[in-house]
Amino acid sequence: MSKKRNTNILLGTILGASIIFNGYLAHNALANDNSPSVIVSVDKWKSSNVTYDFDDNTWPTSFDYAVNESAAGTGLKGWNANSGIFLGYSSSSNNDWLYGPADSLAVTLCYSDASHNLTEVNTTINSSYSWYTGLTGTPSSTQYDLKTVALHEMGHWHRLLDTYLSTHSSYVMYGYTNKGQVKRSLTSFDTEAAKIMYGPN
Ligand SMILES: [Zn+2]
Repeated sequence: MSKKRNTNILLGTILGASIIFNGYLAHNALANDNSPSVIVSVDKWKSSNVTYDFDDNTWPTSFDYAVNESAAGTGLKGWNANSGIFLGYSSSSNNDWLYGPADSLAVTLCYSDASHNLTEVNTTINSSYSWYTGLTGTPSSTQYDLKTVALHEMGHWHRLLDTYLSTHSSYVMYGYTNKGQVKRSLTSFDTEAAKIMYGPN
C-alpha cells in the first residue's frame, strides 16, 4: 500500500531548544530532523485564540465541515480541548486552508517572527488526490480521509512536528497515512505534546 507523507515545512528561525518528553529527548527539528523524538517546535502562538479561513478561490465548501469539526473536536478529543490554543473559523483570518497542487498529501507552512511567535499558518490540501469528506463512516480504498488529515495538519498549526517512528503509527502526528485510513481522535502522545507547547488548560 502506498504511503504519502504529510509534509511539515519549517520556515523562520529555529533555535536548538530541547526538552524531556516521556523519556525521549525532544529536539528542535532542524538540529535533528531524522530523530523520532522530535515532536515540537520552538515557534508558538502568542495569543490563545487563533483563527483560520478557507481560501475563497480554491477551497471546496464541501470540505468546510471536516476542518471545522476537527477544530471543534465534536466526537473526539480535539485540539481545542487539550492544547490551550483555540482554533476557530473567521472569514477575515490571514491563516488559510487552500486546495491545490502540493508536494505531498498536505502541506502546512508556518511563518514566525524573530521572537519565535507565529505570524501566519497556511495549509494546502493536495487536489491531486481523492478525498472523503464525511465526519463519520469510512473512505473507500481510493480516498484519503479529510478529517484525519485536517486533524494532523492542525497539530502543525500548534507547531507539533511529525513523528516517523513505526511504533507511533497510531498517533495523529505520525507523518504517514494511507488511503482508506481513519484516525480522527487524538492520542495521549498528541495531547501531551500540545501541553508541552502550551500547557494544560
Ligand atoms: Zn505532518
